[in-house]
Amino acid sequence: MTQWQRSRSYFERARQSLAGGVSSNVRLLAQPFPLFFDRAEGALIYDVDGNAYIDYVLGQGPLILGHSHPAVLDAVNAAMRRGQLYAGQHELEFILAEKLVELVPAAELCRFGLSGSEMVQAAMRLARAVTGRTKILRFEGHYHGWFDNVLISVAPPLDQAGPRERPRPVAGSAGQVESALADFVVLPWNDLALVETLFQEMGEELAAVMLEPMMCNTGAIPPEPGYLEGLRQLCDRYGTLLYFDETITGFRLGLQGAQGRFGVTPDLASFAKAMAGGFANAALVGKREYMERFARDVNHSGTFNSNVISMAASVAAIAELERDGGAVYRQMERIGTALMEGLQELGQRLGLPLHVQGLPTAFHVSFTELTAIRDYRDYAQHCDRELYGRFVLAMLRRGVRLIGRGIWYVSAAHTESHVEQTLQAAEAALQEVAT
Ligand code: PLP
Repeated sequence: MTQWQRSRSYFERARQSLAGGVSSNVRLLAQPFPLFFDRAEGALIYDVDGNAYIDYVLGQGPLILGHSHPAVLDAVNAAMRRGQLYAGQHELEFILAEKLVELVPAAELCRFGLSGSEMVQAAMRLARAVTGRTKILRFEGHYHGWFDNVLISVAPPLDQAGPRERPRPVAGSAGQVESALADFVVLPWNDLALVETLFQEMGEELAAVMLEPMMCNTGAIPPEPGYLEGLRQLCDRYGTLLYFDETITGFRLGLQGAQGRFGVTPDLASFAKAMAGGFANAALVGKREYMERFARDVNHSGTFNSNVISMAASVAAIAELERDGGAVYRQMERIGTALMEGLQELGQRLGLPLHVQGLPTAFHVSFTELTAIRDYRDYAQHCDRELYGRFVLAMLRRGVRLIGRGIWYVSAAHTESHVEQTLQAAEAALQEVAT
């Protein structure tokens, strides 16, 4: 562990004053312990011991342009000199809202907040106000933030999760109120027949169907052909709102998000991570007739909403993403495809059950004999998570930083040379962990 000596001593010190030594529980899972970082630029991040890593964590997704993108930093610097927070309106708000309306199929009106978690709350409140109903359908393994009423069935222990056909909602944290669970119905992802049956039973009680339009918090599982279309039709038939939580997929799967990529338009959609190139910003967008309720009787507030820095960062980041007809996406698709194919090829060559699936800008790597991971239970039952954990550590030692749950994010700053270095590291790491 000499490679991380200073990080180790910082972590010991941090634990004296910070609960668990971290500020987000997700970071407690980091290998070999939560490391301390000093700076980051492009595709690289440097820890306090001076180790450099090719970064596929990318701030858990937001850094789609890479770290410290000059155009974003310049825009933020210039904007913040004119003040940070007006508690009043400013021009960048409607400039960004107009951009979302132009790009995102579901966006007729927008509201801004700071995090994915918050926008989920706003969406659920709005859906309930619009429909006058309480219950929300969601899917096992999907994450919609850490708040009491949504940290449900994200990674449930299977002995508590009930039958696959009708999972029991399971709270994810001590201290959550059990009564919140009663407002949710949980189903496995990608099984339209089960959704149809549920709608027949209680479609008229459902305010919303809430989903990650590509499941990225467990695996990277795109919707099967016809699945989103089927959800759309059921929602239309029963007067239920279709809500895409695009916190991850927004601006990552393309300028129109997952809804553009898969060709299904929801009633409401939220965006966060990649929308602001590493700064805190989030949006809820949706049909005018629904979103107008925020101007009447549905409350959504926040001191820091649409602050100058967040707005300037988003406007600049989206301009970069749009440049040259989306050249950045073509580059990321090329790099991501090379990584996916290279990893798959390595697995085959070394005779390991290495499985890669998803899309080039967000894909998932696991050790499994399955040929496809279709839902949470496939992942929980059939992926060797302990082996993947050892792989992550072996990669870190070789200068490649990965997320422990297996998703890889690619940025516009990753190059062919990073791919080559990553695959070399992967070959050595796989040989190490397989023996
Ligand atoms: N929704 C989804 C799909 C997410 O992936 C996340 C975070 O990873 C959230 C909501 C919560 O977002 P935040 O961490 O910005 O509160």
